[in-house]
Amino acid sequence: MSEIRIESVNKSFGDKLAVDDANLTIHEQEFLVLVGPSGCGKTTLLRAIAGLGMADSGRITIGGRDVTYLPPRQRNLSMVFQSYAIFPHMTVRDNIGFGLKMNGEDVKNISRRVNDAAELLHIEELLDRRPAAMSGGQRQRVAVARALAMQAEVLLMDEPLSNLDALLRLEMRAELKKLLAEVNATTVYVTHDQIEALSMGDRVAVMKDGVIQQVADPTTVYDQPANKFVGSFVGNPPMNFVDGTLVRPSDGSPVAVKVGEVMLSPDPALDSAIRGIDGDRVTVGIRAENMEALPEANDGAFAVDVSVVEPLGSQNLLTMDVAGHRMKISTHPSFPVEAGQRLWIRFPGDKIRWVDPNTEAMIYG
Ligand code: ATP
Repeated sequence: MSEIRIESVNKSFGDKLAVDDANLTIHEQEFLVLVGPSGCGKTTLLRAIAGLGMADSGRITIGGRDVTYLPPRQRNLSMVFQSYAIFPHMTVRDNIGFGLKMNGEDVKNISRRVNDAAELLHIEELLDRRPAAMSGGQRQRVAVARALAMQAEVLLMDEPLSNLDALLRLEMRAELKKLLAEVNATTVYVTHDQIEALSMGDRVAVMKDGVIQQVADPTTVYDQPANKFVGSFVGNPPMNFVDGTLVRPSDGSPVAVKVGEVMLSPDPALDSAIRGIDGDRVTVGIRAENMEALPEANDGAFAVDVSVVEPLGSQNLLTMDVAGHRMKISTHPSFPVEAGQRLWIRFPGDKIRWVDPNTEAMIYG
């Protein structure tokens, strides 16, 4: 049993509330990614789970056992750090077996588990080398192998790929995902890279200023962000936002939102929630790939002038102003477009996300 429960956990450093009332359950054998901008409290929360920095208040259980104030070695977990923290003067074999030796495992058992972990990471041929004579990618594998050799039920990883170059990182991302699916540990993985979070996690927890903003599967986080911050942090380019004016007809017909010269009609299911917004402003969110670009004027479409065209191979990214807001929209490379050209842009109703500008929360009815 290795479900992790985090209940009302707080952690401050002086005046700084680094983790603010965190509540999160990581299911047994789940791969959960904690993601957020630098300084949002991811590492602090991970360290509280690890026992490397105790929570000020709240409760953490692993497999139903209260570990909140237990030292790390009594939590049955292993960790991989950003720095790898492998010993340069020891061979790879000794590095991988180090934790097992500290735990007093017998020599035969250590040797078997070191070999198994090395095989999983494809580093058998490095076992007698010293880390000083290895590449970053190889060192990273040693750090992961050392964590896996412990066969702990809980695996905690803090930015394990961030020291690698972009290409190796991409390769290791897929490899690590496959590997972790095989070892069945409950994994908490910290990264500031939202692409890594979406591509690797069974679920993703997005943090900002010490507060968990949303916990959901990657598709939901991307497509139905909980609030404006999640929409703009997750996705490249970030979700586009533009301000609209809320029109509440006095004859009881559905609300409408006026953006520039265009009237948008929210889904009737959201009518009462949008009607209930305090004030007459509403923010409209839409992803770059969800807008329709049209070569000619069309009812309900914004007339825009394209200021920049960025050909990205699989798509073109266009920059333009819509009702006074800079937006990025992506089009298929076969759609002919040049900088300076006039286009018409339509927001398909089911792709629009409505944001209450007072709370910045998205409205889903
Ligand atoms: P990064 O991606 O940059 O590592 P993070 O999201 O992991 O960031 P934390 O390292 O958890 O963020 O830090 C959260 C906040 O707590 C930051 O404002 C940081 O400056 C502060 N903090 C973290 N550790 C300490 C410490 N030991 N002493 C004082 N302040 C700290």
